[in-house]
Order: sequence, then structure tokens, then C-alpha cells
Amino acid sequence: MNSHTFLSTRGRAPAATFAEVLLSGLAPDGGLYLPQAWPQFGDEELKAFAGISYQEAAYRVLSRFTGRAFSETELCEAIANAYADFDVPEIAPLIEIGQGRYLLELFHGPTLAFKDIALQVLGQLFSRALAKRGGRATIIAATSGDTGSAAIAALGGLANINVFVMHPKGRVSDVQRRQMTTSTHSNVHNIALEGSFDDAQSIVKALFADTDFGRKVSLTAVNSINFARIAAQSVYYLTATATLGRPATFVVPTGNFGDIFAGEAAWHMGLPVERLVIATNSNDIMARALNEGVYASGDAHPTLSPSMDIQVASNFERALFEAADRDADWTAAAMNDFTRERRLGIPQEVLARLRGRYSAFAEDDTATIAAIKTTYDKTGRIIDPHTAVGVAAAHRMESAPGPVVILSTAHPAKFPDAVARAIGTAPPVPGRLAGLEKLPERVETLPKSPALIRDFISTRLRA
Ligand SMILES: *Cc1c(COP(=O)(O)O)cnc(C)c1O
Repeated sequence: MNSHTFLSTRGRAPAATFAEVLLSGLAPDGGLYLPQAWPQFGDEELKAFAGISYQEAAYRVLSRFTGRAFSETELCEAIANAYADFDVPEIAPLIEIGQGRYLLELFHGPTLAFKDIALQVLGQLFSRALAKRGGRATIIAATSGDTGSAAIAALGGLANINVFVMHPKGRVSDVQRRQMTTSTHSNVHNIALEGSFDDAQSIVKALFADTDFGRKVSLTAVNSINFARIAAQSVYYLTATATLGRPATFVVPTGNFGDIFAGEAAWHMGLPVERLVIATNSNDIMARALNEGVYASGDAHPTLSPSMDIQVASNFERALFEAADRDADWTAAAMNDFTRERRLGIPQEVLARLRGRYSAFAEDDTATIAAIKTTYDKTGRIIDPHTAVGVAAAHRMESAPGPVVILSTAHPAKFPDAVARAIGTAPPVPGRLAGLEKLPERVETLPKSPALIRDFISTRLRA
């Protein structure tokens, strides 16, 4: 049992190396990969995360998972390149906004959302691992808005890789869409899906289930079902806690449950955490799962925080597996029930474990607007609507023990309309977005049919 060999949450996939996990994303039995055993950090090692660079912190965490996949030099180089194009040297700065409350700013990368922190590393590691394995890779990413541009920024122009990004048509912000569709790299293919993010995600799963096709094109997922992303995201929980010098309550704007599960991962690695707070918008499947004990998905509806307009939180499978004492047979049966019935009653024991770690609040658009406005009035800072969902949830926790850290997941300039509604003016446009609206867009609109998407991919790969 070690932390660089991986098993599937559904128990019917062979053990995999880090390189295999990285290059495939989803396990062949439909489950999600986790390390056989979590790496452990002792008290002194945890404290030491305070005095080192973010890149060094990332190395200390990732090297526990990568095993023999990369040499020390390769991993260091990959991490250095990944964070070379960030706007601030701290990479993930912690900003006090009053009374023991902090924003952990995760949006200083190339596409101005937290997805860059993990996808930049993933892109670097991916091209190295692919060069060693040989052959080509076809990457498919379903995006609720930010994963797509971050994947394009990380993988656009790389040799032997094609990137297909599917976003729900009309359900991402204009800035988000343009960040994807204005890419000039010939290996980037944008699909506007006539459906929701959940439809896009289920098409990705259907394409993976078509194992002939998957093998033929070397299909890979870079959504947060890819464990490499979770590993890279766990780093900022460790650095933030070390900087504060005591255990924190982390409030996490949640959609697919990847970012918050990275907090659970840090916890399993030995990090003391007070609580993990799930903050959802009115697509509140995760809040209902925790508070009512039933994980049931309805239809996602549009909100001011589109990157969280999700009704199936893929990474919740990982949390369920851990809360069920890693019972893969139960997890496989439970996930099959959920796929069939779109509903899963969570057993009392599992629910009690989840509630030992997580709390959950759902915040609607009115609360989102109010949080942007109060934060601006009190601190002069403009926050984005996703961060605002976190801030609104944090307001409900007057008596939280320890510092409260709200993960600030996107730059406000990605969502100018929501910000303008709250404070009367749009945020200043940062250099990275300047002139975006003048560039030509490349995108194919397709219906939500796995067969048609598969044909589109095959045709583009032959071209
Ligand atoms: C993706 C995203 C989220 C949700 O993160 P998950 O890992 O899917 O829970 C929150 N905010 C922003 C801005 C995002 O892009």
C-alpha cells in the first residue's frame, strides 16, 4: 500500500501508476482513482509549508503521488513552468477581509480562475508523460465555463494532443466563451452543446464507456475526475493553514466537488482542518445531500455563478467512498443506483461521517448580489459571483472556530454583468482580457448526442 499506486472507487480496475492515472483520467470500471494510501505529513512538515515558495510546496505534495513517473528534475521543471505565467509571486495569496476572515485568491493564472492552478501543472506533466508513453492523446473536457479555457491555455499548441472542449451553449458568460473560442491553436476544438453542463458531463462518460472508441483515439479526461488535479489543488489548503498557523474553516464555492474534495485530501494527508463548508448556488444538490441525506439531481438552471450550475457532482463519489470506509462494492452499487434513478439515499453511517467533515449552505442570486455589494462596501474589494456564494455562506457561520478562509475562485472581470448589477459598475478589465471581444471565434454547435459528438471528434482527428 503506497501513495503512488492508484485504485478505483468502484474496485474493478487494475492498480494504476500516476502516469496511467494522469493519461486516462477516469478508471476503466467507470470509477474515480484515489491513492491506495494517502501520503502523510507530520506536524513539523506541515509547519514548514509556511516558509517556502508555492512551487516548493507543490513539489513536496506532488512528489508523494508521482512515484517513478517523473524524475525530481522533471517534476521541478514542470511545476516551475506551470506557475511562470501567474500574476503574483505568492500564486495563491491569502487576504484578510476582516474579523478572522480571509480570501484565498486562486485566480491569478492565465485564464483568471482557480482551474489554472491545477491545469497548468497537469498540462506540463501530461506532455512529458505522453512523450514517454508515445502516441497521441485526445482530451475531452466538459466545462461549466472555466475548465475549458484553462485546459486550452494549458494544452493548446502541444504536440500529439487534440483538445475537445464542450460548453453548454448560452450558459457561460461572454468572457468565458470568448476565452475558449478565440484560441488560434489548430489542436483546439470548441463545441457549444445544445444542453446543460450535466449533459456535457454525461456525454464524456458515455464516450469513455465506448471502450473501442476510447482506445482508438486514446481518450483522456482533464475534468476534476482526473486525480492529478485534486493533488495539485490540495497544495493551497496546506500553504494557507501553515500561513495562518492554526486549523481553519474553509468555505468552498462548489460545483463538481473537486475543489472541496482537494481539502478533504489534504485532511487525509494529516492537515488539521476545522471544517469544510460546501457553498452552492441554487443548484443545491450538494447542500441537500448533506442536510437531507438524499443525493438527488434535478435539472440545472442558470444562475449568476454559471461555473457552479451543476446537478451531478462527480467528485462526490470520492467523498462517499472515503466515508464508506473505502468500501468499493458499496460505492459501485450506490453509483449505479444513482445513474439509474438520479437519486441516492445516503446510509446513516456514511452521512454521519460526511457531516463530521462538511457543512453545506445554498445561496441564491439575491444573496450573491448582496455579498458582492457588502464586500465592496466594507473592504473596497470587488469579488466575482462564485466567490460571493462563498462569502454569503461564510456570513452564516458567526461562531466558526478558528479562521474562516473563503476560496476566491475567479477574477471578477470574467463576470462583469453580475458585478455591475451589484455595485453599479463593471470591474476594470485586466490586460489578459483586453481586446478579447474583437477576436474571431471558432466553435461548432452540436446537439446533445454522444454519437454525433463521437463522429465530430473522429472527423476532426482525420482532418
Ligand atoms: C469550477 C469552478 C467552481 C467549482 O469548483 P468544483 O471543483 O467544480 O466544485 C467554483 N468557482 C469557479 C469560478 C469555478 O470555475
